Amino acid sequence: MKSYRKELWFNVPTRRAFINITPHVEECLSESGVTEGLVLVNAMHITASVFINDDESGLHQDYEEWLEKLAPHEPVDQYRHNRTGEDNGDAHLKRQVMGREVVVAISEGKLDFGPWEQIFYGEFDGRRRKRVLVKIIGD
Ligand code: ZN
Repeated sequence: MKSYRKELWFNVPTRRAFINITPHVEECLSESGVTEGLVLVNAMHITASVFINDDESGLHQDYEEWLEKLAPHEPVDQYRHNRTGEDNGDAHLKRQVMGREVVVAISEGKLDFGPWEQIFYGEFDGRRRKRVLVKIIGD
C-alpha cells in the first residue's frame, strides 16, 4: 500500500472566504501515484473547514449569509470564547457547522465525485497562514 502526505498552505487576505481546492487535491493525487484508494482532506485549524459542494457563486453567498445569521461576527462580546481576548468565537462555530474534513474515493486514478462535487477550503478567521492536510492511501 502507498501512503502520501502533504500540507497545503493558505493565507486568505479577508476574514472569510471559500476556495475551491480541487485542483490542489488532484495534483496531490497525481504525485501520490495512487489509482485505487482514499483521500482525506482536513483543515488543520479549528476556525476553518473543508467541505464538498457545488462551485456556484450564489450558493457561496448563501452560505456566507446563512452562517452570519447563525453565528454573527459582531458584536464580538456576545461570545464567551472572546473573553480570552480573541475575536473569533463566531469562526469556531462556523467551522463546526461546515465540518472539519472530507474523504473521497479514488477510482481509476481519479477523484470519484458525484455530479458537481468539488472540494472547498472554508476560511472563517483568515489574514494569516493556515494549513490543510491531504492524506492519500491506496495502491
Ligand atoms: Zn478562538
